[in-house]
Amino acid sequence: MSSVSIFWHRRDLRIDDNRGLAAARQSGLPVVGFFCFDRNILDRLPTLDRRVGFIHHHIERLTEAYAEQGGHLMTVHARPLDGLKAAIAALSARGLEVTEIHTNRDYAPYPVQRDAEIAAFAAESGIAFHLHEDHVILPPEAVLKDDGTPYTVFTPYSRKWHRVLESFGGAPLETVDTLSEGSWASVPPEALPLPSLESMGFDGASGDPDGWDAFSHPLEDGIIREYADQRDTPSKRGTTRMSLHLRFGTRSIRELAQRGMAHSDKWLTELIWREFYQAILHHFPHSASDAFRAKYDRIPWRQDEEGFAAWCEGRTGYPLVDAGMRELNATGFMHNRVRMVVASFLCKHLLIDWRWGERYFAEKLLDYELASNVGGWQWASGSGCDAAPYFRVFNPESQMKKFDPKGTYVKHWVPEWGSSAYAAPVVEHKFARQRAIDTYKAALTEA
Ligand SMILES: Cc1cc2nc3c(=O)[nH]c(=O)nc-3n(C[C@H](O)[C@H](O)[C@H](O)COP(=O)(O)OP(=O)(O)OC[C@H]3O[C@@H](n4cnc5c(N)ncnc54)[C@H](O)[C@@H]3O)c2cc1C
Repeated sequence: MSSVSIFWHRRDLRIDDNRGLAAARQSGLPVVGFFCFDRNILDRLPTLDRRVGFIHHHIERLTEAYAEQGGHLMTVHARPLDGLKAAIAALSARGLEVTEIHTNRDYAPYPVQRDAEIAAFAAESGIAFHLHEDHVILPPEAVLKDDGTPYTVFTPYSRKWHRVLESFGGAPLETVDTLSEGSWASVPPEALPLPSLESMGFDGASGDPDGWDAFSHPLEDGIIREYADQRDTPSKRGTTRMSLHLRFGTRSIRELAQRGMAHSDKWLTELIWREFYQAILHHFPHSASDAFRAKYDRIPWRQDEEGFAAWCEGRTGYPLVDAGMRELNATGFMHNRVRMVVASFLCKHLLIDWRWGERYFAEKLLDYELASNVGGWQWASGSGCDAAPYFRVFNPESQMKKFDPKGTYVKHWVPEWGSSAYAAPVVEHKFARQRAIDTYKAALTEA
């Protein structure tokens, strides 16, 4: 038996600038790639799922990239530990013994629990299990207050983020040449080949690239340079649409952060918000399901199924809210400004639990990411760290006047707007605003 190392891709679907893969190759053992379509996650999804299609499409490309380099990517559809055992057995049958597993660290609650299980199995089996940092520039433990506790407010976190980066001489921003050292294990392509979408129970149409068209534009420097001026206009392509690529690692955060450094502090700050929310979820895992600030769980949310259905379907009678929800339902994307408006509308105007909205976004957003989604929702409901104060209630009409003054975005998504066919408002703004303020105030000031 000769020793090999497995590199396990999870949310880093690329070879270029992949820190964990580079480390695996530098460890001196020949490397074989591995990916698991995780049944713990996939079994709960509908049969037509564009995120699974996106992943499948990129695993196909990754498999080709491995083959072009003389390597092989094994792919399974299984629960992670079972899949890993299957890969180890398939290699063993070819005279290859797995003595190391390398992978990039993920900071959210489920991956942390999964990796603990894998680490225990590896320890029992005499396999070295190595976690590397790749998804963020600075991992959650690297940016702490001077007393060692996590930040809960963005601005001081962001200042410290810059100071820590400087203290490392900028090294965390450096891209790595993944292939400069090491070798691939000699594994034939028939060893655990990529399963089809259909064989995993998904509609083949999930893999149609038109499904993620909203995220398919090239990242031009011009967009980053003009970001500060254009980012709040939902009718324009003024934001970069990198969220899906950052979610699944089809683009490297280091490449993007370097471009932010070169062209736009404002855009770099958004990338730091992403790291802030990852750190918050990591340090405060309860915030995935409970209010970050516990007293906000006292709010008596309305169980308004009808209002929720109107919100989901984009027929609240508030044009900017309806346009956003229809954009989401049609494309799997929604502009950030509009995400803020629709989220505030659900929590404040309809007084519906932010968790209902968070779940709906989780189903529909192609760029769905637990940390940023929970962060965005708890910000809008007022219950999160560094959140909007509860008495600040966005007026959806004024937001539209400010950010879509000619109604260009609204007309695109709500063509019947302005005609008698358009829905009447589900709730009156002044009434809803006061109801929200009164309800929040009463709940938060309870003894
Ligand atoms: C209620 C709500 C829910 C959200 N849910 C998600 C989600 O599930 N997944 C997600 O990636 N983002 C989420 N966001 C943040 C933000 O809306 C999206 O990241 C952004 O709209 C993606 O478009 P873009 O790639 O063009 O972003 P750009 O404006 O070009 O920003 C570049 C990158 O910075 C990051 N970023 C930007 N804004 C934020 C932010 N406020 N918080 C965290 N990261 C940010 C993203 O990775 C984004 O791709 C949510 C925001 C709100 C208000």
